[in-house]
Amino acid sequence: MSVKITKPRGTNDVLPSQSAAWQAVEGKLITAARRFGYSEIRTPVFEATELFARGVGDGTDVVNKEMYTFEDRGGRSISLRPEGTAGVVRAAIENGLLADALPRKVCYLVSCFRYEKPQSGRYRQFHQFGVEMFGADAPAADAEVICMVSDILRGFGLAGVTLELNSIGCPACRAEYHKALRAYFEGYRAELCPTCQERLDKNPMRILDCKNPECREIASGAPVILDYLCPECRAHFEAVKDLVAAAGIAYTVNPTVVRGLDYYTRTVFEFSVPGYPALCGGGRYGGLVAELGGPDIEGVGFAIGLERLLALLSEQGLAPAQPKGCDVYLASMGEAAGKKAFLLAEALRRADVSAQCDLCGRSVKAQMKYADKLGARYAMVIGDDELAKNEAELKEMAGERRVMVELLDDSFTDAVRKVLAT
Ligand code: AMP
Repeated sequence: MSVKITKPRGTNDVLPSQSAAWQAVEGKLITAARRFGYSEIRTPVFEATELFARGVGDGTDVVNKEMYTFEDRGGRSISLRPEGTAGVVRAAIENGLLADALPRKVCYLVSCFRYEKPQSGRYRQFHQFGVEMFGADAPAADAEVICMVSDILRGFGLAGVTLELNSIGCPACRAEYHKALRAYFEGYRAELCPTCQERLDKNPMRILDCKNPECREIASGAPVILDYLCPECRAHFEAVKDLVAAAGIAYTVNPTVVRGLDYYTRTVFEFSVPGYPALCGGGRYGGLVAELGGPDIEGVGFAIGLERLLALLSEQGLAPAQPKGCDVYLASMGEAAGKKAFLLAEALRRADVSAQCDLCGRSVKAQMKYADKLGARYAMVIGDDELAKNEAELKEMAGERRVMVELLDDSFTDAVRKVLAT
């Protein structure tokens, strides 16, 4: 008995009617990245679990609760990547990309996997485009990355985008801040959710990320990191804000933006359209490269969720259109005409024209119905008469245009191309 198997929960099929929008968006992202000096890097979908435990952080929800982790047949613990940065840093170190010519700029387009509760805009398999810039400590690096996201979103024409900026300092200022946070949340310990009670002992900053309404309410009165920044971190943050403002990008400082991953230091930021889930997050990560066995250099980057970007584009009527799948449909009647149509279609494709012909032995009426469904721009019917005269009419499907074209090997493709171009 046959069984109908459905897609796993939280995953999406990108259908033929949607794939052109994906390709157009991905193409724009890669082109923008190139303008800023980034080259694409591709890393494996799965990595050693330890990479994410170290690189994303053992105390994070992403690692503790959401990773797809399994033992492979060789007994190794493997995880599907929950985000892009850790794998990129691993690959950059392993392949010696960080040895010279800094800053090194790489970008990526990846699928990510997180065992989250699926809802609109939150999936178990989703896609990210991101960039990582290694070896640039100056505030200009953070500001350039922020400018890049802003340029990209403006390039798509998205309306209502907001930017929230924060600095979460360095380990030195965070030590003081952790003390203050702990003292504050200790007074509310019993009211925090069980996860936050654990966070209070391990990493109280995580409580600021909790989505539980009671924890949020308590967190709204918590001390803010900006009051605890050391002079160097404060000066860095001021300079980042100054450059971003000078570039004409509006922002608000939001001290509750702390990002869910452990490796961030100093600048963190989020772009979103209010009322929708966060679109893009990023920031500076101080110790990650060294933590993963690389040189003592910093990174700064961002990741944007493609499902969320495409949903917003479509919501605002900006999704790239699906191009027509066929320029010319060559219908035929009879065996000899069928062979002619087959060869002419092949000649057109070799000349970069999208062309199709009958592959099912259907009637001309059925062929034309199919051409209509394909959205063919032009159609031609070849039968015995056309073969005898060696010419046939190219008919515009959605209009009145009719052009006689000779079915000659050396002139046919040029004649059709001319019609398509005018
Ligand atoms: P993060 O790595 O959590 O900072 O996420 C970066 C971006 O990836 C977010 O701003 C979202 O656009 C996207 N994203 C994260 N998690 C999901 C998810 N479960 N489903 C869809 N998009 C996601």
